[in-house]
Amino acid sequence: MTAQLLDKSRPNTSYKENASVKQSLLGLSFEDLQAQIVASGLPKFRARQLWRWVWRHGLTNFDEMSDLGRSIRVRFSKIFHADRPLVTRRLQSSDGTIKWLLRFADGNEAETVYIPDKERGTLCISSQIGCTLTCSFCHTGTQKLVRNLSSAEICGQVMLAMDELGDWPAGKPNRRLTNIVLMGMGEPLFNYDNVAAAMRIIMSGEGVGISKRRITLSTSGVVPAIKRAGEELGVNLAISLHAVRDELRDELVPINRKYPLAELINACRHYPGLSNARRITWEYVMLDGINDSDEDCRQLLALIRGIPSKLNLIPFNPWPTSPYKCSSPERIEAFARKVLKAGYASPVRTPRGQDIMAACGQLKSASERQTCQKKSVVG
Ligand code: SAH
Ligand code: SF4
Repeated sequence: MTAQLLDKSRPNTSYKENASVKQSLLGLSFEDLQAQIVASGLPKFRARQLWRWVWRHGLTNFDEMSDLGRSIRVRFSKIFHADRPLVTRRLQSSDGTIKWLLRFADGNEAETVYIPDKERGTLCISSQIGCTLTCSFCHTGTQKLVRNLSSAEICGQVMLAMDELGDWPAGKPNRRLTNIVLMGMGEPLFNYDNVAAAMRIIMSGEGVGISKRRITLSTSGVVPAIKRAGEELGVNLAISLHAVRDELRDELVPINRKYPLAELINACRHYPGLSNARRITWEYVMLDGINDSDEDCRQLLALIRGIPSKLNLIPFNPWPTSPYKCSSPERIEAFARKVLKAGYASPVRTPRGQDIMAACGQLKSASERQTCQKKSVVG
């Protein structure tokens, strides 16, 4: 596959200045926006008008908000902005996957990936710059620099993708972005408040209107926050399981030392709203000779028995210096056959965007990569 590099760096230089003096509308709930507008002496309905321009029509330019008078437009433009993160690079895979490298106002970078499919278009968004966890097979986990993304920065990824995919006004037929997965950089349940605020905004029917049934949050297993996410957000849950014995999971997914398998499985068994129509997705990365034996498969099926489940076998995506190899196609096939026999449908995830390093676990900020390359040149 050949990757195509499209130079679509946007000539947006205002994002830094705006961020320092104005408030981003992208992180404000409707209630907060309304409270601010009322506090500034304007009537409530102005909040609804502004909200619709931003979240329904994707406008960033206040001059285009035609039902606001000129003086109100000027006033809003002095205190608010709806800027997207800056795109520093846009890569398009031959399979249609698009990866955006984004730079936020403080110069930090993260990645967002769009994966088109026949019946859906999924946006994989990041919740943190880097990740504090250090899963041994994950590239993001090797990144030193870590901070939480704000709710505006999380929503900004969705807005930017909708801009580029031509998805405004939100809710139009044949929209290209139909699903969201929190499977980019970071552990979303370590940034719960911002992720929850962002998802509430994105789910709002008055705005982007993506339903909770089309949002999936993937976690390595932050047990105390799982129940909360289920009760408060009701989104689909995916668990990065990857091992079915504690001693191996301790090594692959170190958060297991804090929340071992028994606790994790128990939290999932009681995930609010679970039913055959709403199942837990178990993600299981296939690592050659590590977790891919027939016995692993048997224990996996025993572990999730009785929980409404989908299984996702993920061929390991290598990254430079990664310590593992992907299981052979025959091994994956044999593992998948057993899973199928146990009643779980089409479990192997096709890697997407491999030619642009957009596949699961390959994400790492460009700034970090460049720093590493420079280091190796220097010696
Ligand atoms: N931190 C969250 C969400 C981001 S990771 C989590 O761990 O669930 C998204 C998915 O990609 C997880 O299932 C993760 O385990 C998987 N993943 C990470 N590195 C991978 C790699 N090199 N190959 C395949 N999948 C990987
Ligand atoms: Fe963090 Fe998820 Fe990668 Fe683990 S797999 S290091 S939790 S991003």
